[in-house]
Amino acid sequence: MAEIHDIAIVGGGITGASVAYFLDGQRSVALLEQEPSLGYHSTGRSAAEFTRRFHSDVAGRLTQASAGFVMAPPAGFAEVNLLRPRGNLLIADTEKADHLRSVYEHERDNTPDGAVPVELLSVDQALEKVPFLDSNWVRAAFYDPDCWDIEVENLLQGYVRGAKTKGAVFHHSCSVTAVRRDGDHWVLETSAGEIRARTVVNAAGGWADLVAGMFGAAPLGIVPHRRTAISVKVPDYDVSHMPEVNEIDEVFYFKPDAGQLMVSPADETPVDPHDAWPEELDIAYAAHYLSECTTLDVTHIAHSWAGLRSFAKDRIPVIGFSGQAEGLFWLAGVGGYGIQTSPAVGQIAAAILMGAALPTHFAAAGLDAALFSPSRLES
Ligand SMILES: Cc1cc2nc3c(=O)[nH]c(=O)nc-3n(C[C@H](O)[C@H](O)[C@H](O)COP(=O)(O)OP(=O)(O)OC[C@H]3O[C@@H](n4cnc5c(N)ncnc54)[C@H](O)[C@@H]3O)c2cc1C
Repeated sequence: MAEIHDIAIVGGGITGASVAYFLDGQRSVALLEQEPSLGYHSTGRSAAEFTRRFHSDVAGRLTQASAGFVMAPPAGFAEVNLLRPRGNLLIADTEKADHLRSVYEHERDNTPDGAVPVELLSVDQALEKVPFLDSNWVRAAFYDPDCWDIEVENLLQGYVRGAKTKGAVFHHSCSVTAVRRDGDHWVLETSAGEIRARTVVNAAGGWADLVAGMFGAAPLGIVPHRRTAISVKVPDYDVSHMPEVNEIDEVFYFKPDAGQLMVSPADETPVDPHDAWPEELDIAYAAHYLSECTTLDVTHIAHSWAGLRSFAKDRIPVIGFSGQAEGLFWLAGVGGYGIQTSPAVGQIAAAILMGAALPTHFAAAGLDAALFSPSRLES
């Protein structure tokens, strides 16, 4: 009989890779990714931001619980610092100027542990940070120093390398197409042959409901939402050291990206899972927002792309064993913050899979396994 793994992980994005890493060789693990390369879908299309502010309560706590890992990863995990200081400039037009001040006061009074407080700026001070902002548009601003670029590829490869060192095997171009039960384990039919495992982790991102369906589990309502980004050249400025810029309600944002400006209209369009591409209208919105709040002449879009941000209806990640299919484990719905929360999400998943307690700092952050249980969404 073919080898039976303890755990097969379906999905080779940051979520699947992180749990493979945090299982730490305590179980035999195979990770199966349908694409030729890991991180091809959402993971490879993010804005690469790490920030402890402006999230829902749970996402904020997961990010805070992840900060220690990305700020000081284990020796040898990555060859570069995983975080680079970026800073975030929050801006508002006349209509939202008062609103921005109240958001500023709230953030000032709720500074996360270890984060530097936010700083209210005059319009002139905002323009010192980003000289091509239009002073006729920007009427209020504050600065959040606690915003970083996160090295997504290095984080992903750190997880993969660490998991492989502890014996995990990774199968690329390996799409799970059907499953069947055989005694105490699952047989996964894949484009690369059969793979057997006692437990299957469903880390399939936007495809999580479809994958669960193969096991006879009802969908939990994990809905992929398309988000668009464009890249534009800014010929007269060196943008590399400027902060990220966010409209105060995240109607749009832009940040340096490989010498150009990445701009997103912060769209959230529910779609079926697919290899996402940008719609012309969303590209036009991105260019429009950038033109509106800056003096830039946005005539040429160098590049555009889109990716999927997948949410459960309560926008809390789903981590835990299915109550409907024996040996199926949900690890999905990490939404728009799956990169920066991956250390916490991976550790929570690994602890539940091994029947272990969560690390103590999770309890201190108000995080426990029950919060993420799929049972809240199972009918
Ligand atoms: C424009 C944009 C900006 C973002 N910005 C940020 C940010 O600044 N910070 C942040 O933290 N997050 C950000 N995100 C969100 C982040 O990218 C996601 O939360 C994260 O990448 C999700 O990772 P995942 O592993 O769950 O999904 P994915 O990366 O999509 O991985 C799931 C994998 O499962 C595979 N799969 C599916 N079905 C099967 C099958 N049957 N067999 C085998 N494999 C299968 C897929 O091929 C896929 O590779 C952003 C997302 C977008 C789109």
